[in-house]
Amino acid sequence: MSSHKLKCSILGGTGIVGQNYIKLLRDHPWFEIIDIAASPRSEGKHYYEAVKSKWQMNCNIPEPVKNLIVRNVFDFNSLDPELDFVFSAIALPNKDDVKTLEFQYAQEGIPVISNNSANRWTPDVPMLIPEINHEHLKLIPIQQRRRNFSHGFVVVKPNCSIQSYIAPLHALEQAGYAVEKVIVTTLQAVSGAGYPGVASLDIIDNIVPYIGGEEEKSEMEPLKIFGTVTDKEIINRTDIHFSATCIRVPVTDGHTASVNFKFKGSIPKLDEIIDIWKDYRSLPQELRLPFAPENPIIYLENVDRPQPKKDRDNDKGMAVTIGRLRKDNILDYKFIALSHNTIRGAAGGAILNAELLKAKGFFEKR
Ligand code: NAP
Repeated sequence: MSSHKLKCSILGGTGIVGQNYIKLLRDHPWFEIIDIAASPRSEGKHYYEAVKSKWQMNCNIPEPVKNLIVRNVFDFNSLDPELDFVFSAIALPNKDDVKTLEFQYAQEGIPVISNNSANRWTPDVPMLIPEINHEHLKLIPIQQRRRNFSHGFVVVKPNCSIQSYIAPLHALEQAGYAVEKVIVTTLQAVSGAGYPGVASLDIIDNIVPYIGGEEEKSEMEPLKIFGTVTDKEIINRTDIHFSATCIRVPVTDGHTASVNFKFKGSIPKLDEIIDIWKDYRSLPQELRLPFAPENPIIYLENVDRPQPKKDRDNDKGMAVTIGRLRKDNILDYKFIALSHNTIRGAAGGAILNAELLKAKGFFEKR
C-alpha cells in the first residue's frame, strides 16, 4: 500500500546533518525518506556501507533507510519521480556549486530546504526561522515567477550559531521593546564542523578562538531574518547592530552564546523580560506543527544553567534554553543562551521549515 506521507530525499545524507535528518525523521507523521544522495565516493553503496563508522547517532540506522542505494547528488537521471521535496545538507568545496545544484533541483520541480549557507544571501530566497519570519514565505511565488520554476523553489535556514539568541531578541521586539545593539560571544560545539571536523589534537584540552566565516554570518544573518519582505525581495533591517566573537569549544553538541544587549527606547524590568520569554509563542505553536517546541524559549532560574550537556535536548532539541539574565554595566542586560546546533540549528530547524511549508500548501503534488 502506498504511503500517504510526503516523500523526501536527504542531499548530503551521509554527513553529520544528514544523519540527524535520518534519525529525526524515523517516525515523522508527514514525511518519509525515499532517497539519499551524497558524493561520488558514496554513490552506488547501500546507505549503511556508505556511512560505516561515520554513523554518529545514538540509535541504529533506521531499517527503511539502511539499505537505500546512495545516489550521486549530481545525478538527475535517477531521480525518483515520486519525490515531493529534498533537504539539502550537502557540503561542496565551492559554495557557487551548491547554489547551482540547489537551483537545478528547483528547476526539476523539486522544492529544496537547505542547511547550506550558499543561498542565504540570494535576494529572492527566504532564510527562515518559522517562529520569527514566516511572512518571508511570500517570496516563494516571486522566486518561482522570476526563475520560471513551475513547482520547485529554494528556502534556506540560517546558521546554527544564531539560533540561541535571535528568538529571545525577537520575543522582546514582539512585546514592543526594540533592540538596537547586541554583543555576542558564541561557544560552539565540534559537531558544528561536520565529520570528521576539528582534529582531536586541536580541540581536546583547548579552545580555538576562530571559526572561519562564522562571525560574519552571526552578525549579518539576523539582519535578513528581521528584514521586511517587499513584492521583489527582502530589505535587510538597518537599525539593529550585532558584534560577534565565535569560539570552538570541546563540547560535542550544543552552541552556547553569551549575549549583552541594549534597547532602543524603553527598557523593561528584569522580571518582565523573563515573563515575555516564558510566554513567547508563534505560528508553529498555533499550527501545532509536529516539530514545534511547546515553549520555544525555556528560561531556567538556576544560576549555573543552561549547560550543553544538561539542556541541549530540551523539547526534542528544538527549544532555546536561557538563563542568567542580569543587568549589564555598559549595555542594558546580559544573558546566556543555548541551542542544539545539529537539531534546532540544522536538521530539526529545517524539518520545522518543511512542516510550515506543508501546512501552508507549498508542497502540492507535482
Ligand atoms: P559533513 O558531515 O561534512 O557532510 C557533508 C556531506 O556532503 C556528506 O554527505 C558528503 O558526502 C557530501 N559531500 C562532500 N563533498 C562532496 C562532493 N564533492 N560532492 C558531493 N557531495 C559531497 O557536513 P555537515 O556538518 O553535515 O554539514 C552539511 C551542511 O550543513 C554544510 O553546508 C554545513 O555548513 C551546514 N550546517 C551544518 C551544521 C552543523 O551543526 N554540523 C549546522 C548548520 C548548517 P560523502 O559522505 O559521500 O563524502
